[in-house]
Amino acid sequence: MKIFCIGRNYADHAAEMGSKVPEQPMVFMKPPTALLINNKPFYYPDFSNEIHYEVEIVLRICKNGKHVKPEYANTYYDAIGLGIDFTARDLQRKCKEKGHPWEIAKGFDNSAPVSKFFALDEFDDLSSIAFSLEKNADVVQAGNTADLIFSFSDLICHISKFFKIQHGDLIFTGTPVGVGPVVKGDKLVGRLIGQEVLSCEIR
Ligand code: ZN
Repeated sequence: MKIFCIGRNYADHAAEMGSKVPEQPMVFMKPPTALLINNKPFYYPDFSNEIHYEVEIVLRICKNGKHVKPEYANTYYDAIGLGIDFTARDLQRKCKEKGHPWEIAKGFDNSAPVSKFFALDEFDDLSSIAFSLEKNADVVQAGNTADLIFSFSDLICHISKFFKIQHGDLIFTGTPVGVGPVVKGDKLVGRLIGQEVLSCEIR
């Protein structure tokens, strides 16, 4: 399986990073070893002093596809979950400065906690899904898919131009404003459709 991630897909987050809104979806990937499931704790890695959370809606791909056409894109995912795109912001900053690839800052082990997945019919309106993240019981990020720059269908069409998408692949669709650091002892809780669906202790 592959984990695709999208950068700068909410204008308010692009602004907080001092970045422009992209003209096309900005795609990067995490390896399968980034996946962290069953609300397992996240162990703070020793190569970074600035791990940030980014809460994101995650799509689960349900069939193989290549050059997916817009009118069929919504048939390529069958479930939605919540994920955290853990980012070593200090390493990412150095990579950006040098024009180097981002993988060590984004794709390290356990950098992608993911909740269980919910069938599409559990959502009233896929174009308006509210989600949020709490850190130690304070809401730090609250987003809505109504504010996506590139829709789920846009992302599937774009990604499948370059990569064959396959059953079981995941797409992290981007984070809204409010990203920030974690320290050991913090507890993150993610909510989707009003339910607590994800929790992650930082150890
Ligand atoms: Zn992200």
